[in-house]
Amino acid sequence: MLRSIVSISQTANKIVPSTETALPDLADLDRPALEQLFESVGLPRFRARQVFRWIYRMGETDVSRMTNLGAKVQAEISRRFRIGSPILEHQDRSADGTRKFLLRLADGRRIEAVYIPDTPKQTFCISSQVGCAMDCDFCLTGKMGFTCHLTPAEIVGQVRVLAHETGLHDAAFNIVLMGMGEPLHNYDAVMTSLRILADEEGLAVPPRRVTLSTVGVVPAMEKLAREALMPNLAVSLHATTDEQRDRLVPINRKYPLEALIDTCRKFPVKRRNRITFEYVLLAGVNDTPADARRLVRLLGDVKAKVNLLPLNAAPGIPYERPDEATVDRFAQTLAKHGLRVSVRKSRGRDIRAACGQLIVEGKKTAAGPRLAALMAANHE
Ligand code: SAH
Repeated sequence: MLRSIVSISQTANKIVPSTETALPDLADLDRPALEQLFESVGLPRFRARQVFRWIYRMGETDVSRMTNLGAKVQAEISRRFRIGSPILEHQDRSADGTRKFLLRLADGRRIEAVYIPDTPKQTFCISSQVGCAMDCDFCLTGKMGFTCHLTPAEIVGQVRVLAHETGLHDAAFNIVLMGMGEPLHNYDAVMTSLRILADEEGLAVPPRRVTLSTVGVVPAMEKLAREALMPNLAVSLHATTDEQRDRLVPINRKYPLEALIDTCRKFPVKRRNRITFEYVLLAGVNDTPADARRLVRLLGDVKAKVNLLPLNAAPGIPYERPDEATVDRFAQTLAKHGLRVSVRKSRGRDIRAACGQLIVEGKKTAAGPRLAALMAANHE
């Protein structure tokens, strides 16, 4: 099963911890690339497939335990490569069942990932970067600034560790790229991760079970639109005028609303599917009936659904969460005009695992019960 060590490389009689970063990390590669790499060093392709299955199907990253490889191949792989895996350092459990995992990477940096149970699905919220460069005005992760991109080994590694820890390795689960970081700012690593996750020889998580949330990096969204492997798309909108969005979501100054909405309009959304527009509600800032009506107009001809996120307030965040009546009124206005709407129920707030709270941070989705009827009326 999954082991909490990075991996071991054996050189003659010496055992060297393979946290040394010089060796190529096999967990950074999708299966075709792994096969190619093996071939290039004279190892048969089927060995690559065996290794891939060990890592992702069996959750084993220690080459010396990959029993069907044989000692010679094991030694050869250990000499040339390493297999990176985040190490579980700490976990917190919320009263609502949410679990937040603090993971340590090979170089000592730390990231957080969150398990959100029963929404009604089982969901893993994972990070794509350490910190974030987007600097949204209400997000704690944004306040910590950008440290670095995660590698595919580190992105998929979060899923492997969480699947193991929650006992869901062989179960169906959803993945949301809504932890720390802007996934489209780390495009190639995220796409490689999606291919690794989807591979039938491994975890076999189909793209329809993955949701990628972006702040609206327009050129990267256009590139994503041409990918063969397409996750569900969520867009962090949060405002209905450029003036307002420039302040809340600074990247809007580069890719303003018109360009963003136009890209969404053209995005190849699958039949019966929609783009989720996340909208954080900030008391007295973007939560008025006029905001709601503008939102309706803005999304008028987009295959959209709106997920309202009442702010998770925190020290250092210069905004407040609106009261429930305001949230309800906002949701009702959208619904009345035919927009599909849900309100994200904050999960894991007691362990700082809720949206925008991962400092090293996480988040969550579900409809509030009071809105159940409303939503039922607006869902297919
Ligand atoms: N960078 C991506 C992924 C982050 S997902 C993106 O921006 O979409 C996390 C979601 O939680 C985003 O919609 C983000 O704007 C929102 N969020 C951030 N801080 C929050 C807070 N304090 N309260 C509620 N939602 C927040």
